[in-house]
This record gives sequence, C-alpha cells and structure tokens, in this order.
Amino acid sequence: MPNLFGEIEPGVAEVVPFDGGARAYSYSVPAALKDTLQVGQLVRVPLGNRNSLGVVWKYPAEPLADTKLRSIIMLEHEQPVMTPDCCKLAEWMAAYYGCGLNSVLETVLPAAVRKGVRPVLRRMLSLVGPIDLEALAKMRKKAPRQAQLLDFMSAQKEPVDRAKTTNGLGISQQAVDALIKAGLIKEDASVLWRVAYNDPFSESESVPALGHELNTMQKEAVASATETLDQKTFRTHLLHGVTGSGKTEVYVALIRKVVQEGGSAIFLVPEVALTPQTVGRLRSRLADLGTKVVVWHSHLSAGERFDAWMAMSLGQARVVVGARSAVFAPLPNLRLIVVDEEHEPSFKQGETPMYHGRDVAVYRASLLGAACVLGSATPSLESWKNATGGRYILNTMPQRVDDRPMPAFRIVDMRREVLHAKGQSILSRELVDGIHERLKKGEQAILFLNRRGHSRSLVCPDCGEAVKCPCCSVSLTLHITDHTARCHLCDHREPAPKVCPSCQSPKVRWKGYGTQKVEEVIAKLFPRARVARMDADTMGKKDLFRKVLSDFRAGKYDMLLGTQMIAKGLDFPRVTLVGILDADLSLQMPDFRAPERTFQLLTQVAGRAGRGTLEGAVVVQTFQPASDPIQFAKRLDFHGFAKSELLKRAEFGYPPERHLVRHVFRGRNLEKVNFVAEAWVKEFERLHAGLAEIRGPAPCPFERVQDQHRVHLWYFVTGVKSLLAAILPLRAKILRDEDVIDTIDVDAQDCG
Ligand code: ADP
Ligand code: ZN
Ligand code: ZN
Repeated sequence: MPNLFGEIEPGVAEVVPFDGGARAYSYSVPAALKDTLQVGQLVRVPLGNRNSLGVVWKYPAEPLADTKLRSIIMLEHEQPVMTPDCCKLAEWMAAYYGCGLNSVLETVLPAAVRKGVRPVLRRMLSLVGPIDLEALAKMRKKAPRQAQLLDFMSAQKEPVDRAKTTNGLGISQQAVDALIKAGLIKEDASVLWRVAYNDPFSESESVPALGHELNTMQKEAVASATETLDQKTFRTHLLHGVTGSGKTEVYVALIRKVVQEGGSAIFLVPEVALTPQTVGRLRSRLADLGTKVVVWHSHLSAGERFDAWMAMSLGQARVVVGARSAVFAPLPNLRLIVVDEEHEPSFKQGETPMYHGRDVAVYRASLLGAACVLGSATPSLESWKNATGGRYILNTMPQRVDDRPMPAFRIVDMRREVLHAKGQSILSRELVDGIHERLKKGEQAILFLNRRGHSRSLVCPDCGEAVKCPCCSVSLTLHITDHTARCHLCDHREPAPKVCPSCQSPKVRWKGYGTQKVEEVIAKLFPRARVARMDADTMGKKDLFRKVLSDFRAGKYDMLLGTQMIAKGLDFPRVTLVGILDADLSLQMPDFRAPERTFQLLTQVAGRAGRGTLEGAVVVQTFQPASDPIQFAKRLDFHGFAKSELLKRAEFGYPPERHLVRHVFRGRNLEKVNFVAEAWVKEFERLHAGLAEIRGPAPCPFERVQDQHRVHLWYFVTGVKSLLAAILPLRAKILRDEDVIDTIDVDAQDCG
C-alpha cells in the first residue's frame, strides 16, 4: 500500500508462481531479502494450501488489491533466471496471444530452471594486472602465503578454481580475501559447464573461419544497422538480400561489434538442426571474441539446457544461435537480435502459446532499445509492408557476391510433358537431359519434392473410394520400404491393402508420387549415379543429416533428393542444377498464403544453384506454368510479386492489411463441436457486434485429425488486443463443456 509519502512500499513484491500462476500475485518480502531481492530471481511462495516456485516479477511493488499478503518463504538461489525485459515480454505475450502467464513461462524457461535446479558455481580467481616485483619481494617476508598464491597464479595462463587452489596449496581463505581486497586478484563466478557448448555442431560442417572483405552492398547494410546500434534506440531493419548475396557476413559483422562493445546478441534461425552450416560458420567467425556461443536447439538435454541458460544469465556466453525459443535468452545487455530467413513459418509455434518468434524478437528489441535485423531473400509480406511503409529500415543487397549470376529458370509445362511421356512422367525430358549433362561433367544436382513416401493415395476405380486414415480425413500414403500405408498427420500405419477395403475390388491403384518413388525412377534412369535421399523417413537421426550433407559436399554423391529439409540455407559450390519436381504442391494448400509460400519456396530452392563459380540452372515442373508465383519467381522479381500479392490481400482484407485470428473448436462428437461453435458466434456477435469481421464457423481443411472433428472461425481485426480481451472472458462462459476444446491462434500461419 502506498505509504504517507505516496511511495511504493519496499516490502512488497509481485511473484508469478509456476503452479497455477496465470498471473502475478503480491507477497511481502522478508526483512532478510529486502535489500537484495531482484526481479527475475526464483523464490518459493505459498499459494492456497500449497507452495510453489515462482519468479519475482516486480519489486518493489504495490500490493494488488485482491490478494491477501503472505510472505515469500525463501529465495531459491541468487542468480536471476529471467531478465526484467523478459518479464515484460512475457506479459505482452500473454495478452497478445491470449494465454496465461504460466503457460508463457513454460515456453520461456527451461524445465530444469523452473524446477529450481541450482547452478553449480565455481569461484574462479585471476590476476588483475601484471605483478609489481618489488612489492612481491616485500610481501614474501610479510605475507608469505599471499605471495605464494601470487607466484602460483602468475605461472598460470587461465583463471584458477578458488577451492582447488586453496586446498592444493594449503592457503587460508583470509589470504585470498586479503589479495582481493588489495585489488591484486579478482574473483568471478563461473558455471560449471557440462557439454552445452561442445555439441557436435562445431565439428560436423567445418567451414573456413576467415571472414571476407565486405563488398560495397554489405558495407552499406552494416553501416545502416551500426547507426542504430550506436544510437542505442530501437529500430528494426529488414535486410532484403538475394540468395547468395552474403547476408551471413553482415550478421557476423554486427554481432562482432556488439560483443566487442560488451553487449550480447541473439541469432535466430528457422531450425538449427537443418542449418548446420550457418551455425558452423557463425561459431568459427566468433571464436576469437572470448565469449562462449551457445547453440540452442531441440536436441539439448535438460542439463545442457540448464547450463546454457545459466551461462547466458551470468554473462559467460554472450551470443546464442538458436531456433525460435532462443528469443527468450536471459542475456544481460542485449543489444541485437538477428532473425535469419524471417519469412519461415517455422518461427511460429504450433502449440500454446502460439507465438511468432520474429514478432516476439521485434517486440523484445523495442523493450530494450535494441536493434532487430530481419533478413531474407523473400521477406514475408508482413515485413515487406512494414519496410516499404517506413516502420522498418530497408537495406537491400540485390546482387550475389562477386557478381555471380543468378540461376536461369526453365519452366516445364507438365501438361504437355505427360502427353509425350513414354513410361514415366515424373521427371521431364528437360530435367533428365540436365541431369545427364551434370553427371558427365562431374557436377552435382539437387532434386526437390516436398512429399515423402512412395505413392500418395490408393484409389479404387470400381467404387471411387480413396483409402483414408481411420482417424483423420486424409488419404494414406504408401511407404514402399515396409509396404505400409501411413497417415502423414497422425502416423497411423497399416499393411498396404491389396484390395479395396470398401468393395474388395482388386483393381485398386496407387496414384501420385513421393520421394521414394522418385528414387526408384532415378535408379532406373541413372543406374550409376550416387543418390542420397533426405526426408523425414531417412533422417531419423539429426546427426545423419549432417553426415549426408558433408558427404554431398565432399562429392561422395552426385545427387541429393529431398523434401523441404534441403530447401534452406545450404551452400554447395558444385551444385549447378536444381530440379523442382512439383511446384504446384504448395499452390494447392488450403491457405491464403499459398502463392507467397510457392514464390518463397521456388526462390529459396533455386537459390541453392550456382553458388560457386559454376553457373546454375533451375528446372521447375508445373501444371500451372502461367500462375503468378511461378512467373514472378522465374523473373526473379520479388518486388513485382509483392506488389501484386499485396493488392490482392488488401482487396480481401487479408494480412498484412488486417490481423487474422483463427479459432479452432474440436472434439469427438461433430454435432457438439458444431453446436458450440455456432453458439459461440451468436453470443460473440451479440456482445461485441462490430469488433471483428467473422467468417465461419466452417469445417477445417483437415476436418478430422486423430479422431477429433475440427471446425474453425476466422476473425479479421485491426487490433488484436481488444479482440482477445473480448474472447477470453467468453471462453470461461461458453467452453465449459469439456467435450469441446478450443484454441486461439493469433496471426495464424497454419490454416489446415
Ligand atoms: P546468403 O545468406 O545471402 O544466401 P551467404 O551469406 O550464405 O549468402 O553467402 C554466400 C557465399 O558468399 C558464402 O559462401 C560466403 O562465404 C560468400 N561471401 C560472403 N560475403 C562475401 C564477400 N564479401 N566476398 C566474397 N565472398 C563472400
Ligand atoms: Zn472399391
Ligand atoms: Zn491419421
């Protein structure tokens, strides 16, 4: 409660308890902690008749009116686990994405941190400066123990462990303290590192550590962002650089600057496991900076995650490279967040909280007055609009380094190809000829098809049925390796049927093709070619992925065939041909972003060709050669594509014109699901007429998944927060029936 002078009472803190803390509660602070308690520390607090660990959210604070003041029980350990800006960030996420603070914290904090695991701290001693020999001589007489320690330490190159040293030399703690007090040695706490920074990434794809002399375009981009860094104000830059324009060197230059000035930086990549090269390059380019570089990815163990977290929190590691959740890294003095391939949908989390890593990055930078750099050859239309509208600073790099040419696009009209096909019609004649040529010259080719498995669906000519998954509304895909029919949504598997399950007709036929079938076709056409296939079926282990990539780089394969795994960030100088087998696949997605995704995919995959000194070609097979994304991609015309697509989006009020919020209702009983969705819309419109334009309810494109029927609604709004403020209380009222579950997806990327 404010005291007589209107000041905030120092004895009250807000804490968010992990168990059941959808929000912050006030607690009184025991006298012993009054002077030292810090935001972001872990404390134990009473909650109802239990107690729970939680994070100090605000201190000092005013007591919240509706809570009875109880006291913090204890401080778990001193090291804060969250930075103050991250607390504000979490609050914003809870409000913007419509979920409880505790569910945000589950995403933000590693499990071991939330459980209160204590960091194992080693106290390390090091010399402050060169030793004055005269003084040392005097000391040998007056304080021989202290002198002994100084002698020992000056013979060591690295800081020494305090406990080990005092034990080993038989020196008292007082002697050490006296030297610290005299300013001759200093003590630093250091987390005992396990293996978090020794992961296999650094060795797997070793890339030369030497930097390049930046070219003019790169220099300009670096100078522009440097200005933002120097002004210490928040600004977002969009680095639009064509594939192979050298964006990574720009990021590296900025990160180096920040670290050299004592700051820290976050580098987000779409999927760390899929971008080993980028990670390797970044690490080796930062190796001399005297800071650890944490690689934050899904394969870290709980212990590694914890160590990495603490090392960042203590400032021992000042750079993190990682997937989207690295955006929450507890780095002090964070000055730069880079988001590479900012257009990638994998930055959006598919479960609650359904946050977008890029948007959270921008918001976090804004809280800190830091710089945010988004980079892509094919920026999302959202970012593009922000950049052209003046909210972001646009930096462009329209040419490849060393003026290497962009690859030439060849569009193959598969409607004609099918007519001429003798035998197979999966690989067009143009592509077959192209591959022959590459094989003859000893160059390499990449074939891209974003569909795994052998054949897409089993169709019965007699009754017209396609065999579906028993739990989902999708056809089963044939996997030839074990003759199973599999569902790609829920992974249901059954032996591939030989007769139609509906009418027992033996005339059933598998239609459509995936990577396994392409592999067969290639083996027939090019029996001597060495081919590696990379898709979710062959790449169970992520290490294998790295091995295949480095073997391909070393020339042990002639061809790489794969799904979207191979579309990103790979840089192979001997690849001179890229074939995109079914460019229409992404166009057929039930998604208003389908043209954008297709354009991005074509441009990114094509960008894998001709990155060395050899010129590259791209062959695109399509049944819709005249469609916009294919035509614009062929002309390498991002501006033209963005302009035409933005016009269409604006016409229908789609993002980035407005925000789109998706509301999915699901349950086992279709009637109930429909009933709840209908009731919801009625009640919502009655209470909040005009707040949002609502479309639906309608069945989701995947009507049934894992035996759950799915129905969705779309809200089109200009402001998200007021919509969520209206939705959340209504949820408590209408969705009490546990047979129907709903999820809210703000700025949804997935429309299935
Ligand atoms: P992008 O991410 O824009 O596709 P990269 O950063 O991967 O491009 O760079 C493409 C290639 O060009 C890499 O092999 C990189 O080492 C090289 N490169 C980058 N900058 C320069 C430069 N200034 N001079 C020469 N080569 C460069
Ligand atoms: Zn049948
Ligand atoms: Zn299924």
